[in-house]
Order: sequence, then C-alpha cells, then structure tokens
Amino acid sequence: MTVLTVDKGIIYEFNKLNSPTKVVASGTTLTIETYDCFQNQIQSPETEVTAIDWNKINPATGPIYVEDAKPGDILKVKIEKIKIGDQGVMVVGPELGVMGHKIDQMESKILPIKNEKVLFNDLELPLNKMIGVIGVAPEGEGVNCGTPGAHGGNMDNKMVTEGATLYFPVFAEGALFALGDLHAAMGDGEVSVSGVEVAGEVTVTLEVIKGDTLSHPMLENDDVFTQIVSAETLDKAAKLATSEMIDRIVEKSGRPLSEITMLMSAVGQSEICQIVDPLMTARFVVPKWVLKQLDIQLV
Ligand code: CA
Ligand code: ZN
Repeated sequence: MTVLTVDKGIIYEFNKLNSPTKVVASGTTLTIETYDCFQNQIQSPETEVTAIDWNKINPATGPIYVEDAKPGDILKVKIEKIKIGDQGVMVVGPELGVMGHKIDQMESKILPIKNEKVLFNDLELPLNKMIGVIGVAPEGEGVNCGTPGAHGGNMDNKMVTEGATLYFPVFAEGALFALGDLHAAMGDGEVSVSGVEVAGEVTVTLEVIKGDTLSHPMLENDDVFTQIVSAETLDKAAKLATSEMIDRIVEKSGRPLSEITMLMSAVGQSEICQIVDPLMTARFVVPKWVLKQLDIQLV
C-alpha cells in the first residue's frame, strides 16, 4: 500500500500552481497521513494558545496528481478508512465561531480518545471520525485551506466519513487532490469553529470519471446522495445546493422540473454542514431509495 506522509509536503492553499508531492494512476488506493488543523502545535494543556503560529493552520497533505484527470472530468474519492490519534484538541476564542462575541480569551482543551469515545471532562462523546478539509485545486486563484468552495476544501461536512464517496469537479490537470483537518467528532454547524481536532491517516481510492461534469462536490454513502455547496451566506448555499440537485435529477431522469421539485419537497433534506468558516456550507440530501425508484444514477 502506498503511503503519503506529511514530511513529503503539505499545502495551506489549494492552487493549480502547487507542485504535486505524489503522482498516482486513476484507481490507486493510498494512505495519506495528516496533521491536525493546528499542525499538531497543541499537544498538552500547558501549550499557550497565544503562542501558536497561526500561519500554520489547516495544513492539507498533498497535493496528489491523478494521471488522466483533466479539467471538466470528475474525481471520485472513496474514503476507505479513517484512523485517528489518541487525543484531540478543541479551542474557543474571541471572534471565533458563533459564540466568539461572548468569549474574551483563547482557550484550548485536550480531549483523550479511548475505547471509541472522546473524553470531555467527565463526559463521554461518541466518535464520528470525519474529514474537514478535502478537495482539489480550484479553477482560478488559489483558495486557502480554511475556506470551502466548488473545489471542496474546508467544507466541515460531518458526512465525510469512512465509507463515503465524494465526487469533485476537476479544474486542473491531475486534479491536485489533498486532505487534512480530521475530526474525532463534530456536530452540524461546527459552532465553536473547531471540531475535536485530531491527527491521523486516511485511506482513499482516487478514480477519474470521464464524460460527466459537476459544478460543486457531491457525496454518496450507503443511504443517500448529497449535493454540497458553499456560499457567502447559508441561505444562498442551501438554496443553490437544492437547485443544483433538482437540476441534476431532472437532467438524469428526464422528468419535469415541477414534478421533481414537488418530489424533493416531499423526501429531500436541506441540511447545514458548517456556519463558521469564511463561506457557509450546506448540503441537500436525497435518499437512495427514491433514486432507485426513478431508476437513475446521479454520477
Ligand atoms: Ca475545518
Ligand atoms: Zn477542523
């Protein structure tokens, strides 16, 4: 199994001008090591949060050049396995997240991870291992790894878990895929601006799909197909995720827009990924049983 370690290179910006640290053929399965979103700078309760280097935030490991990926293709990313370290870290601070206006100093907390639980003081939280930052090089200028977009990036979507498959629009030769910012747990919204941040290793299979295009990432798991959109406001993100999904179902099924709109109003879910990154991220979620009844594949 190919392993890509963090010492081979990390990025703080998804950019088509980045040099790849690894070249793989379409269909390759590899394991990617990642730092946590603070680049592992907070290791003990004694670490002064004010002393950490805030330029070293949200590193993503890569980028990986996938042979034959061309602008206009789709990169399919199957998340085979997520392995996380044995402790996580969370922070709060002034102007950070939804409650930042009420918090007057930076504070961090180390959370041990034991027996599939996150230990939060005397409380035990269930694990929901997920990937915060995952994506490809964007179309135009580079986008820092803290900001989500049509290329993916910091989507902080709790559905990006083991067993999920993501589909990204390819904007650059080789796609230039990278990931980082693992969370041991995170709720929809990521309201404090940190999940339970943790380092780890992710095993993915990268595959190029020809003959179909996307304008924003999609995600599939055993039960649902989802459209993910990031925008300046949550309203805009939620509405665009919905309309992109409806347009795609209309296109694939050949049924009228009015009918698919009614159908999605009956069975689709408009959900929040995160409300704290520079752009907001929403997803529109469609159960697979309805796609089966419509007899369509979305990708
Ligand atoms: Ca994040
Ligand atoms: Zn994070």
